[in-house]
This record gives sequence, structure tokens and C-alpha cells, in this order.
Amino acid sequence: MKNAKYHLRCLECGQSIPDRYTNTCPEGHDSLLRTAYETKRIRRLSGYGMFNYIDWLPVEEPLPINASPITYKSEDFGTELGLKNLYISFSGYWPEKSVFMKTCTFKELEAPPTFLRAKEKASSRNVLVVSSAGNTSRAFAEVSSLTGMPVVAIVPKSCIHRMWTSTGNHDGIFLISVDGDYSDAIAISKEIAKIDTLELIEEGGVRNVARRDGMGVVEVEAAFSMKVLPDYYFQAVGSGTGAIAAWETFTRLIEDGRFGRELPGIVISQNLPFAPMFSAWQACRAEIIADKDMRNAEEAIKKMYADVLSTRNPPYSIKGGVYDMLANSNGKMYGVTNEECRIAEKLFESEEGIDLVSAASVAVASLIKAVDEGFVKNEDKILLNITGGGYKRLREDYKMYGIEERMELKSSGQLPLDEVEIELKEFVTGFMK
Ligand SMILES: *Cc1c(COP(=O)(O)O)cnc(C)c1O
Ligand SMILES: [Zn+2]
Repeated sequence: MKNAKYHLRCLECGQSIPDRYTNTCPEGHDSLLRTAYETKRIRRLSGYGMFNYIDWLPVEEPLPINASPITYKSEDFGTELGLKNLYISFSGYWPEKSVFMKTCTFKELEAPPTFLRAKEKASSRNVLVVSSAGNTSRAFAEVSSLTGMPVVAIVPKSCIHRMWTSTGNHDGIFLISVDGDYSDAIAISKEIAKIDTLELIEEGGVRNVARRDGMGVVEVEAAFSMKVLPDYYFQAVGSGTGAIAAWETFTRLIEDGRFGRELPGIVISQNLPFAPMFSAWQACRAEIIADKDMRNAEEAIKKMYADVLSTRNPPYSIKGGVYDMLANSNGKMYGVTNEECRIAEKLFESEEGIDLVSAASVAVASLIKAVDEGFVKNEDKILLNITGGGYKRLREDYKMYGIEERMELKSSGQLPLDEVEIELKEFVTGFMK
């Protein structure tokens, strides 16, 4: 283990764990594992997209893809808000700014290191299972279409329209639609991952360090651009995985020593009326209570402007999760209405000249609120994470190739697991390691 590039550390017991695509502490602690990298002073390579920051990614080799976010100082929108030091991190498609993330969200930073980590570190076959409301599965699908690495993607039927790639090469993508919501898709993917003859790899969600450290590229890239850590970091959250990643990465950047010593205040936002973490945090609770924080969940989710943020079981209470992040970073949380999102989106688009994914307008709206309340000051250095955008811009340049579903499953009643096994067996066998 001495020569390993990194090891994993349980935040509960402190144990060092060698990575075998390990997503939970062998002692069974309800804690996130965190990567500890040998390299404390991160290098910035060039020509490898997000893998320019491979020192802090849990992989051995880069993938030849050019996805990477950019950070720039906002003149127009910043001036509009009276902010002198507003920096925008943009994950999406905006060729004029040299950002080419064709699935248009920061989920595209999670997929490449996850595929690689599975290939390098998992012992069995390397077919991943991913479930999402669309953006995550689409990011995995795009990377599969570019690299040929296989994935089983499980998505609610209502989100199937989000499933496309820019290449049309869908041989490695086994798309399953679920007649239900995001949480049903997650539940079904867990069942499918348990079919042991298939030896599928559960991608792992927030517990997967490759997903968090992949998103951490946003903060590393921003630190190199800004030359210093921001005072505040703004992001819209669904699961909170991206914000936990930001916290972890800022902590690493402080250890690096070149970017300052002060942990940024992490300001996260959810879209009302479905905002379980906002509700729990407002009540100063470290636990989400369904009866209080998620009343009429189904209806509330249907009303959301940004339904990709509708995670029902976010990693709020887990050690190293969202609650710890907020408490540790002197953080703050906003709930924003659909109307506030629309106003924010319009203003941002007209000032900055690029379209936003709806979830990103939640973050923009929260920043406007924070300015109005005087929570942030004109001189503060602010990093606004635009987690998705450029979807309209992409359509000017590219065709989107819809992915055909290979199976359709009902969320209620008995799952036809035998049938799923037969269908998937053939797919998986074609991709044996
Ligand atoms: C998924 C997503 C988010 C929320 O990220 P979490 O890590 O789930 O909190 C925000 N914005 C966009 C565009 C997303 O796709
Ligand atoms: Zn442990």
C-alpha cells in the first residue's frame, strides 16, 4: 500500500482501506469513505480535459475525452448584482468559452473516472449499473458511446426523453425504463445489481469516491483560475453529492497550501416545494423526517421547475454527508420557488449569453437571494457553480441521438427478475473482462 497513488479512509474509524472499488467501510460504518492522495500539491497538466487533474482522481490512467469545466470572471451578471468578484464555473456546452461537455451538466465529470475506476479496481466483470432521473445516466451513456465501455442505465419512464448521446453509438448501453419516479429507479437498480450471476457493479452514488472526486475538478479548476479559494460557493443540490465533493476538494486545496487557508462558506439550494434537506436544515435537524420534510412528496415533485433535484434519500445524515458539510463550512441553505428560478434564469441568460439547465437556475436564484439579504457583500469572492447549460447552444451544432430502451419495468408488484437476468446475461457476456 506504500506505493499506491491513494487509499481510502473511513471518516468514522479512520481506517486506511486499499481501493478494490470499495464504497463502504469493511467495518460496516455508516460513513462516506474519502480518498487520501499521496500528492498533496496538485499538478495541472494540459491536453487531458478533466484528467489534467489526475493527481486527485482515483484512477491510474486518463481517458481520451475533452470534457472539463471552465471558470471565468463574470462582468455582466456580476455587475447587475453589484458583485465585484463573481466567478462562474460552467459545466456544459459553450464552445465560445472552450467548454465542450456535450451532455451539458457536471454529471459528465462523474462518469469518466467512475468507468475507469471500475475497470481498474473492480475484481469481476466491469459492467456498471447506474440509475438516475436522466442527467447522470445520460453522462454515463455519452462516455460509453465515446469509449465503448458498457453500462446498464435505469431511468424513470418520464425522463426517457433525456436519454441521448451525441454519437449514436449505443452498443454499450442497456437502457431500462421504469414506470415510476427516480427513487423507484434506484430501488430497481439495487434489485438488478443483486442478481449475482450477472456480476454487475453497482456504481455506488455518493459513496463512490470517483463520482465525488470527478466533480471536485470544478473546484480545482476554479482555484487555478481564481488563484485563491472563494469566500462563498453556490450550488443547487439534489443529492448533495456535488456539494460534498466541493467541501472535500476545498479541504484538499487548503492542504495544498497555494490557495489560502479559509474554507469557503458553502451555500446550497433546493427547489421548492420539494426541498427535504432545506426543511431539515431550517429545523436544525441532522435527520430528515419524511412526515415533516417530505409531505406529499409525489405531488411536490411534479410541481418542481427542476425535477432533477428531486432526490428522496439524500446523504444528509451520513458521516461526511451534507449535514456535516454545512456545519463544518459555516454553510447556508436556500429554498427557491419556481418563479424565482424563472426570473433568475432569464436574467442570467440575457446577461451572460448562454442558456441554463433548469437546476442551474436554482443556484442563480439563491445567489440573487443572498445578495438581496445582504448575506454576501459586494467585494466577496464568489464562485457560482453553473452545473448545467448550453443545451440550446448544443442543438445548433449537434444532432442528438435518442437511446432506445431495451426493457420496460413496472415499479410496483413482482419484478420479472428471471426475464431481466436472461436479457442482461447476453449483454454482459459480450463485455467480459
Ligand atoms: C444532478 C444535478 C445537480 C445536483 O447535483 P447533486 O450532486 O445531486 O446534488 C445540479 N445541477 C444539475 C444540472 C444536475 O444535473
Ligand atoms: Zn469505518
